[in-house]
Amino acid sequence: MRLLRLVAVMAAALGLNAAGGTLWFRPVEGYGWDKPANWLTGAGTAVNRLPQADDAVLLSSSRIQAETPLVVPAGVTALCQRLTVGELYNGGSRPAVRVEAGATLRIAGTNLTDTLCLGDAGSGTLLLRGGTVAFGHTTATHRNVVIRKGAGATGILRGWGTVNPTPAVTHVRMENNGMVIADGEGAARDLDLHGVVSTTNTLAQGVDGSNGWYAVNQGRVLFPRTWINGAATPDAVRCLGDATTRREPELVNSLRASFTGLNAAVFFRGGLYATNHPALPPLPQGRCVGVWGLGLYANNTGWELSDLTTFSTVGLTFRYDAACVTSTNLLTLYRYESDAWVKVGARMARPPCRISTARPLTRLSSGDWNVGLFALMASNTLGTVTLLDDRPEPDPNDRLVIDKNLPAGNIVLERMEGDTVYLQNELRDTAGWWFYWAFRACGAAGRTLTFRFTNGDPVCTRGPCVSLDQGRTWRYAADSFTPRAFTYTFPPDAREVWFAMGMVYTQRDWEAFLARHAASGAFIETGTLCTSPKGRAVERARVGCINRPPKYRVWLSARHHAAEMMASYVLEGILDAVLAETELGAWLRDNVEFMVVPFVDKDGVEDGDQGKNRRPHDHNRDYTEFLHPECAAITNWITTHAQGKLEIVLDIHCPWIRGTYNEWLYQVYTQDSENAAAQRRLGELLQEHQRGALDYRLANDLPFGQSWNTGANYSAGRSFKMWVLDCVPGNRVSTTYEVPFATANTATVTREACREFGEDTAKVFRLFLRATDPQ
Ligand SMILES: [Zn+2]
Repeated sequence: MRLLRLVAVMAAALGLNAAGGTLWFRPVEGYGWDKPANWLTGAGTAVNRLPQADDAVLLSSSRIQAETPLVVPAGVTALCQRLTVGELYNGGSRPAVRVEAGATLRIAGTNLTDTLCLGDAGSGTLLLRGGTVAFGHTTATHRNVVIRKGAGATGILRGWGTVNPTPAVTHVRMENNGMVIADGEGAARDLDLHGVVSTTNTLAQGVDGSNGWYAVNQGRVLFPRTWINGAATPDAVRCLGDATTRREPELVNSLRASFTGLNAAVFFRGGLYATNHPALPPLPQGRCVGVWGLGLYANNTGWELSDLTTFSTVGLTFRYDAACVTSTNLLTLYRYESDAWVKVGARMARPPCRISTARPLTRLSSGDWNVGLFALMASNTLGTVTLLDDRPEPDPNDRLVIDKNLPAGNIVLERMEGDTVYLQNELRDTAGWWFYWAFRACGAAGRTLTFRFTNGDPVCTRGPCVSLDQGRTWRYAADSFTPRAFTYTFPPDAREVWFAMGMVYTQRDWEAFLARHAASGAFIETGTLCTSPKGRAVERARVGCINRPPKYRVWLSARHHAAEMMASYVLEGILDAVLAETELGAWLRDNVEFMVVPFVDKDGVEDGDQGKNRRPHDHNRDYTEFLHPECAAITNWITTHAQGKLEIVLDIHCPWIRGTYNEWLYQVYTQDSENAAAQRRLGELLQEHQRGALDYRLANDLPFGQSWNTGANYSAGRSFKMWVLDCVPGNRVSTTYEVPFATANTATVTREACREFGEDTAKVFRLFLRATDPQ
């Protein structure tokens, strides 16, 4: 009751003076906090004397709740036992106490916990404009400064000035669950907290993730120091700006250091600079995310160069401010050494928003900071992800660059530790996880690197596909691999090596195929099916009997799912057979027109998308709604050109990356039993007549109702194969192949093996057409 009454009285008193803008007050008599009549209020109230020590309740138990700041003016020492700003939930109002330059807020409470509390249940701010916050009495067991005490509260310490000016004699501890903001107000000024002996952090980050340390307007915050008993622990790992023994720094702009070679009790100190702080050397290229100066000192007060003390090496991890970066930013960490910024770490901007030095750093023997002055810079990668190694660079062309500058590139680089590169594939608009990736490494000649994926198991059953000639040839070439990592030794002369989950096939491969068959121009007509959503021409082709009405028509398509590249080599193999100078080729060219769409999801193929399970549905579930223009164009072309005569429809896919059904080649049978019987007939012919290496087995085909081939799989919409059954009269078989990425029963899947299976397919098409001709 007493508390509530006081709050009401104070709020009323302050409210009377709200127009005055500033306000300060003190009791006439000591210990009068529960006697409102003893309080003087208002800017116009004369102060007849400076507060004296016996005014110990000047602000005693002051529960500052009103919007108007309580000001401690220059020359005044305001005494109190305890000060809480924002004790009660205050509905968004921002009570504040302001301590001007030359003023001291002296908090003298004895054996009290939380003697200065900014934001208990409500919002509270302490604004230092050059003032000092002093503590008269502390013990080893009490927190003295608490910023944001309750999960629903807001606590802010802002400005410039000093907290605890007598670090040698008064042990002040801080709990920072809120925000500490060094605001230099346009000049190089410090918010000096180094007299605080420790930081703790007991509440989880609020929804905005902003708990931590900031510096603006040329300010600098000097963190509470971290004491390390280096004599007992020569190799110590400690946080600065967060609880010292925390495994990873959590407060924004805090950090963790792992020292070696300590030999005495030392004080790890330093702070965060505003990026426009005038004392900083010109920063490296990019947008500055944070600047820290860090040193190791021999005693608890001195900042002189002579106070710097020794250690062997230090590794650092910084918790940077997520609000300063975007997911396309490459972050580069620099240390200032001998008048130059030297890169000491790099990674893509990613939660949990930490960046580490790539390797231990040695102590600096010149400059203000012997651990170092560090700058974290962000640059926009604009689709090109580059991770630079920081080894000495005798030849700038020899530096290690890993990027996705290749056709269908897809990778996110996270970091590099020693010779291990951490990365993950980009899912883009995929619902759930999928496994496609492709990247390029330059400047690694002679090195052995391990590439470790941090999201899922996207390495195929024969390891990564590797190309030393920019995609003209591919082979499985890792030294060793697991489902989520592989190690590769770069040949001594390798300038550029491509790695991918499969043997990448894009438009340029299709164009190479056409160029290979330039002499067969009379049997090939290329054209454009439609324009893709990103403005690309979606290819279509007519191959074989194209200059007169054919006896048969066959449909071939691939890449309804962009990443399923091995399908394209089977499609090539079929057309190779059609165009070959063989008896079979001649018959096919005389009798069959092939309608071909090599890349249904053209944009996804070129951009390196997963394609499968696009949101809201992928191309092969689009034959109900037709959200993708390519699908509508396919149905239009079939309707207008095939005119009810399309005997065989083959749409070629690839399955999941590994496991049962995914390590053999199979057809997916339809629910329609008549068509399923035709698929089975085609399969019998394939099994009997194949000569290629892919080891197709009829028994591997997937009947409807088994494994994933159920009605539920098509709930997102009708597939192309099903649309054909519904809408193309006269069709004899509508089927799909699932061509595995790497393993086909006994065989290794290669481009050559896929082309051979295509030739086998063409041979079987003739047998099937003859066998199914009306008698
Ligand atoms: Zn597919």
